[in-house]
Amino acid sequence: MTAAIIDGKVFAAGIRARVAEHVTRLRQEHGITPGLAVVLVGEDPASQVYVRNKGRMTVEAGMQSFEHRLSAETSEADLLALVQRLNADPAVHGILVQLPLPGHMNADLVINAIDPAKDVDGFHISNVGRLGTGQKAMVPCTPLGCLMLLRDRLGSLSGLDAVVIGRSNIVGKPMAQLLLGDSCTVTLAHSRTRDLPQVVRRADIVVAAVGRPGMVTGDWLKPGATVIDVGINRIETAPGETRLVGDCDFDSCAKVAGAITPVPGGVGPMTIACLLANTVTACCRAKGIPEPE
Ligand code: NDP
Repeated sequence: MTAAIIDGKVFAAGIRARVAEHVTRLRQEHGITPGLAVVLVGEDPASQVYVRNKGRMTVEAGMQSFEHRLSAETSEADLLALVQRLNADPAVHGILVQLPLPGHMNADLVINAIDPAKDVDGFHISNVGRLGTGQKAMVPCTPLGCLMLLRDRLGSLSGLDAVVIGRSNIVGKPMAQLLLGDSCTVTLAHSRTRDLPQVVRRADIVVAAVGRPGMVTGDWLKPGATVIDVGINRIETAPGETRLVGDCDFDSCAKVAGAITPVPGGVGPMTIACLLANTVTACCRAKGIPEPE
């Protein structure tokens, strides 16, 4: 069997185009331009790339982008004061504080200071609780993107066995909640899981969010399984040469799976697209305007 390739790049471009259409309608019919504020503290190179891309795509979708770059020495109190200003700013509908934060800051405190209605990353404790209890929430972007790809590929997920590998607050746990919300039977695996290959072999849906290059191999999969590879790992292929790979060994998995996301070009592009979609949703909810589907 050769798996179908789930093209996240094309799917994400479609989401961004729909977001841009919605933004145009908001401006024409309501005189509103959604605004996304992104806060970066310090000079983490990967975070700088993410923030630049987020800013560019926000503007491309016709929204306002507010970038706040603070030095790594910024005090927690100053960051909290900025978050409060953004909470109060009517031009800002979404706020994202790029993680990781420098070690002297308490990330939970900072994230929980964001107005939950503007928490487009969905990391605020109140959004986490809402998602867990099936209430309307801001949903974390990466797992939301994975869910969209799965629904597009499989239609109804009801009754399917899903294994999520990785239990982080930003990917694994919300992914498990979303799959549960779609009536999957969910197993949330992690580094202490016993006989992981055997656990994964039961799954119709495998979501790998671990950070270990090529960990999931084809012999772990049930034939025909749908594999969503969240991992982004940079490996050295030759001295001075690197490339990005996922948590799944693509070649062996593609021989067994029914469908699989590539890395790059799978889940990655979905994350920013969902961030833009969440910003429009936050804007519509704030204004009492019907939100996009
Ligand atoms: P974390 O490091 O926060 O979590 C990793 C998880 O993997 C932990 O729950 C850990 O278990 C588990 N794990 C580690 N080793 C094993 C193992 N041998 N067997 C089973 N489980 C294991 O990572 P994130 O969730 O933040 O990210 C995961 C991956 O996804 C990374 O590669 C990251 O770069 C990528 N990512 C991609 C995004 C995108 O946009 N595509 C967005 C966010 C992340 P335990 O809890 O027991 O330690």
